[in-house]
Amino acid sequence: MTTSPVLSIGGLTPFTTIDFPNHLAAVLFCQGCPWRCGYCHNTHLLDFQIKPTLSWEEIDNFLQRRQGLLDAIVFSGGEPTLQKGLLDAVLHIRRMGFKIGLHTAGINSKRLAKLLPYLDWVGFDIKAPFDDYATITGVANSGEQALESAKLLLESGVAYEFRTTVHPQLLNEKALLALATCLADLGVQRYVLQDCRTTHCLDSSLQNLSHNELISNHKLIKAIRALIPQTSLR
Ligand code: SF4
Repeated sequence: MTTSPVLSIGGLTPFTTIDFPNHLAAVLFCQGCPWRCGYCHNTHLLDFQIKPTLSWEEIDNFLQRRQGLLDAIVFSGGEPTLQKGLLDAVLHIRRMGFKIGLHTAGINSKRLAKLLPYLDWVGFDIKAPFDDYATITGVANSGEQALESAKLLLESGVAYEFRTTVHPQLLNEKALLALATCLADLGVQRYVLQDCRTTHCLDSSLQNLSHNELISNHKLIKAIRALIPQTSLR
């Protein structure tokens, strides 16, 4: 008898075309994250103690019904790499014929290293210049894990996108250029700058952003594209 993966899943998007490029996918949202980014809009997924919304049996039933209909399953969060049962779940889902996508902020580099051989695509949230991570995450030295994870991803050869959520109260032109320089030095080739969705974000002082002067700064975007040509806006 095989044991079920131990996962805490706080939500499911049964169908999406935007969470794994060029793939039809479903997203499983992992419960729990130790960081507290002010712009986080998945605040209901931050608490590790909340009872999972879906049991593994329910997830497995869903997956069986979607075999042949979906290309991939994406783990998002919260922070998926903090789930002890993630590798078991990934292996199980791969055996069912799905590709695997992962959205991560690189919070647990050791677990990411074990997962990478079984991943098909990673969306890596890169928050700030690595020395300044705490200004976004609220957690001292959080940039160290992110840097280690970023290096592992780049070395692995797994397809990826690095993306940065841009809020002008948390990042400025200088910080974005410093970050892009660092990413270019690491060898990052695909980069996305995301406009910040502020309607339900964690820090109420960041809400209701009417104009994002960084995303609309053509000179800045051009300078970032000079560093990483495949930079897009979302
Ligand atoms: S790392 Fe992601 S899930 Fe965690 S607080 Fe930041 S935005 Fe939210």
